[in-house]
Amino acid sequence: MTEINNYVGGEEVAGTSGRFADVFNPATGQAEKRVALATTAEVDAVVANAKAAWPKWAKTPPLRRARILDKFKFLLQENADRIAEAISAEHGKTHDDALGEVTRGLEVVEFAVGIPHLLKGEITENVGTNVDSHSLRQPLGVVAGITPFNFPCMVPMWMFPVALACGNCFVLKPSERDPSPSLIIAELLTKAGLPAGVFNVVHGDKEAVDALLHNPDVKAVSFVGSTPIARYIYATGTANGKRVQALGGAKNHMVIMPDADLDMAVSALMGAAYGSAGERCMAISVAVPVGEETANRLIDKLVPQIESLKIGPAADRASEMGPVVTAQHLAKIRGYIDQGEKEGAKLVVDGRDFKAPQGYEGGYFIGGTLFDGVTSDMTIWKEEIFGPVLGIARAKDYSEAVDLIGKHEYGNGVAIFTRDGDSARAFAHDIEVGMVGVNVPIPVPMAFHSFGGWKASLFGDHHMHGPEGVRFYTRLKTITTRWPTGMRAVSEFVMPTMG
Ligand code: NAD
Repeated sequence: MTEINNYVGGEEVAGTSGRFADVFNPATGQAEKRVALATTAEVDAVVANAKAAWPKWAKTPPLRRARILDKFKFLLQENADRIAEAISAEHGKTHDDALGEVTRGLEVVEFAVGIPHLLKGEITENVGTNVDSHSLRQPLGVVAGITPFNFPCMVPMWMFPVALACGNCFVLKPSERDPSPSLIIAELLTKAGLPAGVFNVVHGDKEAVDALLHNPDVKAVSFVGSTPIARYIYATGTANGKRVQALGGAKNHMVIMPDADLDMAVSALMGAAYGSAGERCMAISVAVPVGEETANRLIDKLVPQIESLKIGPAADRASEMGPVVTAQHLAKIRGYIDQGEKEGAKLVVDGRDFKAPQGYEGGYFIGGTLFDGVTSDMTIWKEEIFGPVLGIARAKDYSEAVDLIGKHEYGNGVAIFTRDGDSARAFAHDIEVGMVGVNVPIPVPMAFHSFGGWKASLFGDHHMHGPEGVRFYTRLKTITTRWPTGMRAVSEFVMPTMG
């Protein structure tokens, strides 16, 4: 069995804990690799290594840091296929979907290459007579990223390109379910000229995460994962004096107004609900058609498309949807479908009947599933399923649709499909959700904007990447300067007023 190493001080280093997690190929159900789960002492050693590398990196001119990232970007492009294959082999998503994730990550690198411009401070001449003020943004030191299984390349890249460009050293703790892509990334950063110790990877579970949360040399933690863990990371990290941005789970709704282009809405919904087997934090898991006629027409158009989804392994490049990530996750999704039926939702398409393709019988496959008649008292509405299960919650009018979304504990993404600018504008302004799409099903902000939800989908003040990322990974310093000419000869004991 192949063993997956850590990456410390510019090279791969074997874990020494003797504790391992198996890494499965979701398409076959075979454990082909295993990853060592780091101890507290190993994590502390990685942080110490990063801390030693930090002073020099922090003093490296931003332009030179940017040039290394620029080179990294070209290496990412050259190695995109290899990274995508590593993603599919452990996550299960299709090759094109994995390539898309590499591209979305690469865009953050492109943003970070502009760091000399982004780090420019402000200056005010004559804040007082002959006194000037200017502000700087300086790096924090060693910062950590703790990431989920569903985007093993893109989510780390929401974090580290900006963190490194700002002059921080980075310790990545990837998901133990698909840890390999992070090592390719580390290798390419070294090839691009990043000094040893500036970017490190340490694999592990709760023990490694807790070590990062308690190590005083880790100044900030970026987390993406499920809400209970996000809440824990935020509470523990901030109690230990760290900056924390912790992004959590989601339940994203798509409102379909009676005037929507229904074919456009259906095709958007298919990708948004079933792409990546629904394992996306921005996946649409509840469709909210407004009016009975809209709902009936929507279902009529959806059903044949769900039934003809091409489900298979990433090795088959024609697959539109792959398996889910683990046997446990598959069992959990099936459990939600059972629960939905029990609670009275109408099961229109049942993915539990899906037969895995020949040669992949051990894989974690499930078919696309559709429920109608989902209501706000049902578990399948309240909880994040994170699988290819779409619920239809019918609303009698626009207000009922908006009220339903407002009631949900999560506020990550949302979309409205309509031809009416007035409804779209009112929706975008009033809805309590962090990312809104108008005739766009998955409104993931581009790298030069910032990504983040509201309510239980994000704990902390800062969204990720874009200008918010620069603010998160830097500290503001304001310098007030007066040169001796005109200095008063005597000490002043009253509060200075800059007159
Ligand atoms: P997860 O919360 O199980 O794991 C995320 C990370 O936390 C992993 O690195 C894992 O090792 C670590 N972890 C797990 N249990 C822990 C514990 N008890 N203590 C400390 N650390 C622990 O999430 P996942 O299953 O890998 O990912 C899916 C979840 O991530 C979904 O809820 C999805 O919505 C969410 N997600 C959110 C966003 C977003 O932007 N809001 C993006 C992607 C994924």
